[in-house]
Amino acid sequence: MRTPIVAANWKMHKTAGEAVGYFRRLLELVAPQPKVELVVFPPATLLSLAKKHLEGSPIGWGAQNAYPEPQGAFTGEVSVVQVADLGARYLICGHSERRHIFGEGDELIGRKVRAALDTGLVPILCVGELLEERQAGRAWEVVERQLSTALADVFLPSPERLVVAYEPVWAIGTGVPARPEDAQGMAARIRKWLEGRFGKPGRAIRIQYGGSVKPENAREFLGLPDIDGALVGGASLDPDKFWAIAQAALT
Ligand code: PEP
Repeated sequence: MRTPIVAANWKMHKTAGEAVGYFRRLLELVAPQPKVELVVFPPATLLSLAKKHLEGSPIGWGAQNAYPEPQGAFTGEVSVVQVADLGARYLICGHSERRHIFGEGDELIGRKVRAALDTGLVPILCVGELLEERQAGRAWEVVERQLSTALADVFLPSPERLVVAYEPVWAIGTGVPARPEDAQGMAARIRKWLEGRFGKPGRAIRIQYGGSVKPENAREFLGLPDIDGALVGGASLDPDKFWAIAQAALT
């Protein structure tokens, strides 16, 4: 049984005051024991506020990014240990904006995945192809390369310790989601690949879809057999919309 996981990626949005308002509203909305796992990814500057307001609630929090060394001379970076120290449970690794704006490659993303696991965090490994790669019929080739490099040398103690987010780059922040049948097709191939890599337990690794998910279309994705949740950007900035998306995972 894979519990759906719906995550709010705030990207570089919200001040401290706005974050507190968001946490208060989301806590009002969320049922005491929702059958969907909710995780909020604020910017690193707001992680301590997430801990203060969400600790002991059903809502988890995680970091959008972290450097894979525990400490050191890496000016401007925040380490996996530092985010874990603020109660983060999850770490997004290889988001398309990290790959395509900041030039992160598969090797570095793999180091982040391993560092997250070593630190007790659960990596959410984002994979997904560019539009031209899809149009050239290379979507699976790209996703498979991203999976196999990032998950090389990974020891996974149990399937709950990893989440994979399929996020076609052309669907992120564009308002144009993937077709549900394409998202399902890719998720099924990812699940088969995970089984090949990790054996039968690999089938229990949760797979999210991300890319222009909103309350109006969430049900189309969250009802698919191989999709176990959503990674949501724009629509997650409003706690009511985020909760409406999460509810779609329950029906
Ligand atoms: C994302 O940031 O991972 C994302 C999917 O963004 P959006 O929902 O805005 O497309």
